[in-house]
Amino acid sequence: MIPPPAPFPDELLTSWLARQNCRVRGRVFQDPEVVLDRRGRWRLPDIHPPAAWLKAVSLEFGVPPSSLAEITIGRRHPGIPLDFLAWDAPPFQTEHETLRPIPRLHVSWCTRCLAEDYAAGQPAYLRRHWVLAVSGFCHKHKWPLQDRCAACGCFRWRLSAAASGPLRMICRGCWRPLERAAPETLVADQNAVNCWDHVIELEVAVATALRGRTPDQHRFNFTSADQLLNEVRDIWQLLVGHHRSWARTDIPLNSYVCPAMTPGSDPPEFHSSDKLHPMAIASIAMRRSMLSAVKGILDPRIETGRVLFGEHKPPAIETFVASVDEDALQQNIEAMKRWSPAFVDRVVVAQRGRRRNARIADLESRIARIGSSLARV
Ligand SMILES: [Zn+2]
Ligand SMILES: [Zn+2]
Repeated sequence: MIPPPAPFPDELLTSWLARQNCRVRGRVFQDPEVVLDRRGRWRLPDIHPPAAWLKAVSLEFGVPPSSLAEITIGRRHPGIPLDFLAWDAPPFQTEHETLRPIPRLHVSWCTRCLAEDYAAGQPAYLRRHWVLAVSGFCHKHKWPLQDRCAACGCFRWRLSAAASGPLRMICRGCWRPLERAAPETLVADQNAVNCWDHVIELEVAVATALRGRTPDQHRFNFTSADQLLNEVRDIWQLLVGHHRSWARTDIPLNSYVCPAMTPGSDPPEFHSSDKLHPMAIASIAMRRSMLSAVKGILDPRIETGRVLFGEHKPPAIETFVASVDEDALQQNIEAMKRWSPAFVDRVVVAQRGRRRNARIADLESRIARIGSSLARV
């Protein structure tokens, strides 16, 4: 008998298990029951699988438990905050909730990774990177991730073995393979690609911080890994809050329009969110648009905002201080070491500039009023 293939180093554990179930027909080894442990943590197979299940699955397929534990998110990203993962059904429970669905990760995919797998005659598999809430792109191919079939728009899929050829990721709506990229992505121009590159730069920095490593100090000076994660999460929360009117689309995020983030469609009007962790449940279009806004705000280079949002837009940080809830912004600034001193300085300078401009505008309108009353005399 052929020995069972080891997991790929960047594979999700449930992807490896699905591949084994396809390989050994008629023998279906179930994902473990997702349970809360005594410390109140959800024991998801891809993050912290229950030890007994891990042992059983390794016995079943003859793979050492250590090589399976090695690819879990808990091992690769120890201490990853759960809101930095993408969820179909999030694991966050408020004290008022008693019933909620079992937590389930949300998977996006890179059509070019899948196409490469197929061309190389190797089985399709799900990369760990595809379930991060801060992944809008494949970093290898610099290519937008998709979470629906480009042919029929269906979100549901499965790994499936054809009569011949390697395992493929197949749409459950139209049963076509998912290597097909959305046509509008294929015709993206150089400007769009430049925007993608900017967002990928941020995603790489956040992925580094999620592994506990200090971000590149050339780009994020005086910023620790935790501070970068706090900044991304807090800016996200501030940009989806609605405080200016009751209109659900009157949120700061909609001031940042970057069509390259939503190829082929008009930039959508995003709705406000009162959910606990909006980052963890955002659609892929909102995720990419949000990451472009966060990149514009965090990057001190003025040209970054121009590439992303257009030549004539004000600097992204100025739009930020002018559009978000002032009290909430102030709380974040005053929270001890929550944000990096470099970012706090930039926010404070932008706030000062805004107040100064408001004073000048006020003065000018007064002078104009005096001028017109003098003219009447
Ligand atoms: Zn890829
Ligand atoms: Zn389909």
